[in-house]
Amino acid sequence: MSTNDSPQGGDAALINASIAQLKDWLAAGELSANDLAAAFERRIETIDPELNSLISRVEANAPASTDGPLAGIPYAHKDIFCAKGTRTTCGSRMLGDWVAPYDSTVHERLSQSGAVLLGKANMDEFAMGSSNENSHFGAVANPWDTAAVPGGSSGGSAAAVAARLVPFATGTDTGGSIRQPAAFCGVTGIKPTYGRVSRYGMIAYASSFDQGGVIAKSAADCALVLGEMAGFDPKDSTSSDEAVPDYVAGLDGSIEGLRVGIPKQWFSDALDPAVGDAVTAAIDELRAAGARMVEIDLPDADIALAAYYLLAPAEASSNLSRFDGVRFGYRCEDPKDLQDLYERTRSEGFGSEVKRRILVGTYALSAGYYDAFYRRAQKARRLVTEHFQRAFDQCDLIAGPVTPTPAFDRGAHSDDPAKMYLEDIFTIPVNLAGLPGMSVPAGFVNGRPVGLQLIGRHFDEGRLLNVAHQYQQRVDWHERMPSIAGDSANDNREG
Ligand code: GLN
Repeated sequence: MSTNDSPQGGDAALINASIAQLKDWLAAGELSANDLAAAFERRIETIDPELNSLISRVEANAPASTDGPLAGIPYAHKDIFCAKGTRTTCGSRMLGDWVAPYDSTVHERLSQSGAVLLGKANMDEFAMGSSNENSHFGAVANPWDTAAVPGGSSGGSAAAVAARLVPFATGTDTGGSIRQPAAFCGVTGIKPTYGRVSRYGMIAYASSFDQGGVIAKSAADCALVLGEMAGFDPKDSTSSDEAVPDYVAGLDGSIEGLRVGIPKQWFSDALDPAVGDAVTAAIDELRAAGARMVEIDLPDADIALAAYYLLAPAEASSNLSRFDGVRFGYRCEDPKDLQDLYERTRSEGFGSEVKRRILVGTYALSAGYYDAFYRRAQKARRLVTEHFQRAFDQCDLIAGPVTPTPAFDRGAHSDDPAKMYLEDIFTIPVNLAGLPGMSVPAGFVNGRPVGLQLIGRHFDEGRLLNVAHQYQQRVDWHERMPSIAGDSANDNREG
């Protein structure tokens, strides 16, 4: 732990402090929002050139509210969230210099709560990827080991939080894009129930799966931020009017007697044994805190994967048809006619993974193939949802791995999309069913972080955060900080 326990301790104390601690210092006048933003900006300046976690910097404005729940707390947005007047690229050349003309609801709410935007985080193009190597703005390095990927698609967000460039960052999770990078970077991430956080102004990938959430150092920090982001939004027809509980107030509840379901099929050959050991040790901690383990059946992770990689591209092919060179974004030079404008704009503006998915999705939806592919995949989606429902008759929450392996090396899966897709085998089923899921740091394998996944019933984010917080009272994985070249401020470095 840091020996510094006040803002007088300098940047090292600030960057490792919880959001609650920062709020106390700000409220007591021991720290100004300006000084806090400046401390993180200095870190971004010195450390981010090595990581490439941010696509754009945003000049820190005075907080819109000085007494809101996040007043003065700096953060980064995944560059998929529109914030009026800021460049919003979605990791794509297609939107390379597009400036959002309006605010996403998430941005509007965070601004109203007083949070201070410092940058837009790197991501896989249009949120398609598991390694952040699909960004038009270059790959992101994992702060724990720069030879490793940070995960994706919210890889910039996870790397920025892990490197302490911001106290928290937004992310989105369509098939694992909050949980997988959080696991690879040793930070805490929550993907809420589908409909919990408004999708208005969040650039669409696969609309029936996309869900915004948060990546931060701890469950307690996630609870604070999610409370500000969540809630009904009349501008998003799929947003839920279910009341948002006080997530922070719920953190301290006992987990005595809680029934934790362990999906036995997830601890198979597909799982790296060292990752399995770390996850098992985390489950033992939950047991020591009073929880009870129940073996459950979730037989269809591979079916879920196949269904997702058909349905998500199908939805993407439709969502991405708006990028045609006419309305906004990139336009090719000197088109000779309308057809040429469409063709060259889209072939120059999109990267190869995005094109692959548009092709797959368009094919799957084409007349004659619809029943064979799309309809079958929808049935599989229903089946996966039913299996989760059945599992939740026996347990209150599910615990397991986030990923089959720790972060892989950059370039390792570049020529093999199918192998890349397998990285999502434990996260995707959760998106098919629209359930909330969390990734919690649970140890290291060869110096690379490993995550514990917690999955809840619909709208049970409060319980996930409570269980994760209770776990984080017993371990200190989430307090570890990577040692980064050029970093002067880390006196509690690891490894
Ligand atoms: N890795 C998955 C994909 O490539 C999930 C992405 C996401 O959640 N946005 O589609």
